[in-house]
Amino acid sequence: TEDGQQLSESEAPAVDATVPHSARVYDFWLGGKDNFAVDRAMGAAMTEAIPTLPAMAKENRRFVHRVARHLVAEEGIRQFLDVGAGIPTRPNLHEVAQSIAPETRVVYVDNDPVVLAHSRALMVSTPEGRSAYVDADLREPRSILEHPVLTDTLDLTKPVALTLIAILMLIADEDDPAGTLRALTEALPSGSYLAITHPTQDFNPEAVGAAVAAARQAGMTLVARSRGEVERFFEGWEFVEPGLTPVMAWRPDGEPPADPRAAYYWAGLARKP
Ligand code: SAH
Repeated sequence: TEDGQQLSESEAPAVDATVPHSARVYDFWLGGKDNFAVDRAMGAAMTEAIPTLPAMAKENRRFVHRVARHLVAEEGIRQFLDVGAGIPTRPNLHEVAQSIAPETRVVYVDNDPVVLAHSRALMVSTPEGRSAYVDADLREPRSILEHPVLTDTLDLTKPVALTLIAILMLIADEDDPAGTLRALTEALPSGSYLAITHPTQDFNPEAVGAAVAAARQAGMTLVARSRGEVERFFEGWEFVEPGLTPVMAWRPDGEPPADPRAAYYWAGLARKP
């Protein structure tokens, strides 16, 4: 990992190494070391269905970098709330944002003990800015909004960019992802931004269907959603150009990709009116 830490299963009693966890599967795809056999087995079963999944995980990271650069450089955003932060990989969101505006403040949220164990890598901030970590669950939005670390770091009377990058697919419909999201976004003032990426079956139903089945078989909730379903998460918000697009098509750096539908994720950024 970034800070050279290695987890051993005996040193990390809070970590359940018997059930695959999204943060660790993601880490496996990104080439990290913070994953257990059970995560690698499920990650491999999924990449059997979709061999390019590791590249798609990287596309999600690239998207959040592009969003951060756009918001800080073009829209004057200086506050971020990143829910489902994941195991740190450089550059992290706050590093991208603070390289443009050092005073930027970022709060990361995740509920995985492995991410918590690495959270200090997420908290190396510029002296002018702040970077903080909250161990909380997206399904309990008030535990995020009322957390003293959040209220101490972010000024919720000023615009905040809420980023939900590859996390909403882990919330089943029964757990009311839209209602959860609303509870978070209602707390943000006009001029705030919402960025979401979400895996979909729209571009390759068969392969994504097989990957989702592999995840479910391993005991993980994973919901691919259609364009319409992802669009509804943005209800009441105004899309920033180019709207809801395949993740690779959203304001690409340099030449547009030859086949933006090669990464099976919808992505969008919207502004609260
Ligand atoms: N946003 C990162 C990581 C995506 S993996 C990226 O795009 O690279 C999804 C992350 O969401 C994992 O780190 C996982 O631990 C976290 N997560 C899953 N369910 C969560 C929940 N209910 N509350 C908070 N975090 C959650």
